[in-house]
Amino acid sequence: MDHAGRLRRLEKALSENELDFLLVTHLPNIRYLSGFTGSSAALLVGERGLVLFTDGRYREQAKQEVKKARIVIGSKAPSVAAVESLASQRLRGGRRCLGIEPESLTAGLHHRLGSLLRGKVRMRFAPSLIERARMVKDGEEIRRIRDAVRLGASLFSVARNRIRPGEREVEVAAAMEYAARRGGAEGMSFPTIVASGPRSAIVHGRASLARIPGRGFVVCDFGVILAGYCSDRTRTVHLGQPSHDERAFYRAVREAQQAAIDCARLGVSTGDVDDAARSVLRKWKLAKYFTHSTGHGLGLEIHEGPRLAAGRTETLEAGMVVTIEPGAYIPGKRGVRIEDVVLITASGCEPLDATEKDLVLL
Ligand code: ZN
Ligand code: ZN
Repeated sequence: MDHAGRLRRLEKALSENELDFLLVTHLPNIRYLSGFTGSSAALLVGERGLVLFTDGRYREQAKQEVKKARIVIGSKAPSVAAVESLASQRLRGGRRCLGIEPESLTAGLHHRLGSLLRGKVRMRFAPSLIERARMVKDGEEIRRIRDAVRLGASLFSVARNRIRPGEREVEVAAAMEYAARRGGAEGMSFPTIVASGPRSAIVHGRASLARIPGRGFVVCDFGVILAGYCSDRTRTVHLGQPSHDERAFYRAVREAQQAAIDCARLGVSTGDVDDAARSVLRKWKLAKYFTHSTGHGLGLEIHEGPRLAAGRTETLEAGMVVTIEPGAYIPGKRGVRIEDVVLITASGCEPLDATEKDLVLL
């Protein structure tokens, strides 16, 4: 990974934002900048380059993973150790400004860090500079996401073989997750969703002890983490013969997804992609059943920017990797969602997971 290039770009963004230092506390951001994958760390970005603060459990791991930062092992909370070290530095010139990441710092820690600085260094909320940079993936990141998507996609055939009337949803999820681990996944990118029959209308219907009924839709939404990068995919199958209405319902979501994929390209706003899906469902009189946004970025985290949602104005750029996942859900009755990961390229939009999406009957 190009940690040096990332740091260079961040330093430029910091000076544009009149920040002398940045205390990075969001772990995926720490990983992005330094390569460190442990669960307890703070990264101080400043005049002396990068300093990673972590604890004794990570001594070996930090040494192996982190090449471009000084490593400080301590026993205090890493953000406290970082700010103490900053407060003890002899800083020349006027009063300096430290940016912090408000989303990943508790109110208690924020208060404590402020009192440690004793007014010596000003502290303020930094804009989401690293999250902004992370939206556009580089070649190595895209390669890893492709691999994750490929492994993730293979789990659908496991689900297909397992889904049958009377089987518990958790059994289907367990078979998929076992296959994921055997394929090298570090874990799942979120709790696997297997939602059958009327439960298919629950948007985030985690696999439950419910037994799959003899007929109706089954929504499977699943993703793996492979070499740090997430995949995300949804397929909906139907048990037994679908009614005319059910077929039409599936077709509407399928068309909505295709419309959004066709719309997604460099220079288009994320709100317009959302609208492309939503207007197809409006035509089918199903818009009110589409209760979430059309998609999200993904990478080191399962949900990253940009969000593809109504009214959003960010512009799609080459190198962004987003999901396209419209759905429709009639409470107590049925739900359908179809989701793929796509890469925005210089010339359009490349689905990373170009597999069959016609309704599968089991
Ligand atoms: Zn999903
Ligand atoms: Zn998703």
